[in-house]
Amino acid sequence: MARYLGPACRLCRAEGAKLFLKGPRCNTPKCAFERRSTPPGMHGRGRQKPTEYGRQLREKQKLRRIYGILEKQFRLYFERAARKKGITGDTLLALLETRLDNIVYRAGFASSRQLARQIVRHSHITVNGRMVNIPSYQVRANDVIGVAGREASRALVKAQLELTAGTPAPEWLAVNKDELTATLARIPERNDIQVPVNVSLVVELYSK
Ligand code: SF4
Repeated sequence: MARYLGPACRLCRAEGAKLFLKGPRCNTPKCAFERRSTPPGMHGRGRQKPTEYGRQLREKQKLRRIYGILEKQFRLYFERAARKKGITGDTLLALLETRLDNIVYRAGFASSRQLARQIVRHSHITVNGRMVNIPSYQVRANDVIGVAGREASRALVKAQLELTAGTPAPEWLAVNKDELTATLARIPERNDIQVPVNVSLVVELYSK
């Protein structure tokens, strides 16, 4: 699956918000957005007030970029969310949060979603004891995410856990740092998911 390969910090500046794409660096003074928050490009400072469509588009782009998903796949997520019962925006967020790469990131097994994706792709992660190397794999309630038995896999995840020790796992995820497992205790609800995005604008955009 293709993905964005350009500079991550440029995306934060383009969206006018910290998207936390680079792990621990995002919480240090080295953060590019802290040093220069204007949009990138020679006309960055002179942007005009966005239209309603522009605001909806920016929120959608922000959400897509936080989870590292390209447009086509993101639209499929929206269509799936719209077909399910309940509030579409909340369902969309729950679907994104329960992607395997995001769970690996939330569990602290990787310091960024980008690295989590790589860790999954490189076959370091198991689901219910079976190796899964698909970052978009949808984790279900009570699924147990583990680390492959290889010493290299365990050493990699242990090193990441040390890096992420200051960030507690969300309460809907039961992490056992000794066993290197994370169990999805329940599907996260809207209040559990902290993202700097107005999801209802995303829903408005796709509902036109
Ligand atoms: Fe964004 Fe700052 Fe992290 Fe770069 S370091 S990805 S600008 S939050």
